[in-house]
Amino acid sequence: MSATRGASALDEIDTALSRLGWLTVPDFKELITALNRYGATARSISRQGKKADLRMRVEGALHGLKAAPAVSGVWANVRPTAVTLRLVSGASNGTTPAPTMTVSVSLPTPATVRASHSASTSQTPTYVPPLAMPKLAALYTGSKPGGGSVSAPGGSGGAGPSNARLEVNPGPAFRFKPSPFFTVEEPVSIVHECVESYSAQDRREASFTFPLTSAQLAKLRPASGSASTPPTHQLRLFCTSSAFYDPSSRTQNATKNNLDLPMEFPSTCEVFINDTQLKSSLLKGMKRQPGTAPPPDLRVGNGSDGGLRAGAGAENVNKVKMLYVNTTPAGTYAGFKKFYLVVQLVRAERVTTLIENIRDKQSVSAEEIRGKMRASVAASADDDIIAGTLKLPLKCPLSFARIALPARSRKCTHSQCFDCASWFAVMEQTTTWLCPICENVLDWREIIVDGFFAEILRLTPPAADDVLLEADGTWRTIDGRYSSRNPYSAEKRRVEVIELDLDD
Ligand SMILES: [Zn+2]
Repeated sequence: MSATRGASALDEIDTALSRLGWLTVPDFKELITALNRYGATARSISRQGKKADLRMRVEGALHGLKAAPAVSGVWANVRPTAVTLRLVSGASNGTTPAPTMTVSVSLPTPATVRASHSASTSQTPTYVPPLAMPKLAALYTGSKPGGGSVSAPGGSGGAGPSNARLEVNPGPAFRFKPSPFFTVEEPVSIVHECVESYSAQDRREASFTFPLTSAQLAKLRPASGSASTPPTHQLRLFCTSSAFYDPSSRTQNATKNNLDLPMEFPSTCEVFINDTQLKSSLLKGMKRQPGTAPPPDLRVGNGSDGGLRAGAGAENVNKVKMLYVNTTPAGTYAGFKKFYLVVQLVRAERVTTLIENIRDKQSVSAEEIRGKMRASVAASADDDIIAGTLKLPLKCPLSFARIALPARSRKCTHSQCFDCASWFAVMEQTTTWLCPICENVLDWREIIVDGFFAEILRLTPPAADDVLLEADGTWRTIDGRYSSRNPYSAEKRRVEVIELDLDD
């Protein structure tokens, strides 16, 4: 142990460890490549094998790294990969270098922007010799023609298609996937259509304004005037793409396949509210998986109003600006897409309330679950299938701590649970809704508290990490001291200790 160890690097590695459950096989390989490149372990980690193997090796490497003297230095190098994979947030933590936004944009001349932009989505963009520029925002500084909410960056006005169109009427058809964390109360802006970007060189800017009433703004201030009490409402920016939404279709539901809209921002974008930039990590979600980032909260400025304004008059409107290019590989996932932005006032649900509701209303009793286990044993008895003993972990696969409130989906077929609060805490940041155990996408409305698992937790000592579970619902601790027939209880334990003392 050396003094060079940074506490925050350790904290971040712990955070990364708690989120490994969301990585895909390619993600694990990317992380292993980074760990190997920066010498996180004495020997290179193999990138071969199944996901469970990759995860185990990464876990081992990260735990090992925590104990290494050079942890801060190694982590500083591995960190950008961890940020990309959303294992840690992109914000700088003081001891590690702030990751630079991974936008590599090239600067074409205004004329070639127009030449490459066409109404035809099948046209191949004109090749433009790249000119390295580090940040999208830099491209626009001082070069934006004054005035309108629509502008061709770097251009001198005049010919050429506009970058964005206004006045798409929202309506019941423009409905996003529901979330346990908030309920949409009302849209406060029009739906703003953002035209396609055709390449990484085809820079686009979309901007629009929206007013707020003082009553709306009041809902966005910390509740009861105390900064520590979160506001009852939030102002969130929703974005989806033409892959999911078709405003020209005036049918009952303009969303394709009649599904609620998933969130999707352009592959590379920067978003500003009243000239304050939103953290880009908030807009990304899992790589190329729409719907995995929640709509960002627009209260990012200073003061109790979060930088938002209310009232009549042009000076009091709020301005959303999005700068974007299309950096998705052609022909793979993206194609050319339009994007649709809308600002909505939402009522925030508190996670603690959410979890209390699940505990109170969606608990399934131990008897009911044991009954189902016995029924399934009886049903399989005819098939000569001998169900084996299962090692059932009592720790949460997300938090690595002993589960406090054991949860899983009603539809999960496994006995293993995760911790309810830990799962919702992860889902609040990365809305994959994946079960960390079976990796199926769960409906949060189907989450149950497993009374049988809760009973095992209650009847085993706090130090027990696993039990051996039989198909009929009987169980024993690994050391064999306690079982469903001879359970542990804090009370009994006290008696035993006293008896031991008397024996002395
Ligand atoms: Zn599951």
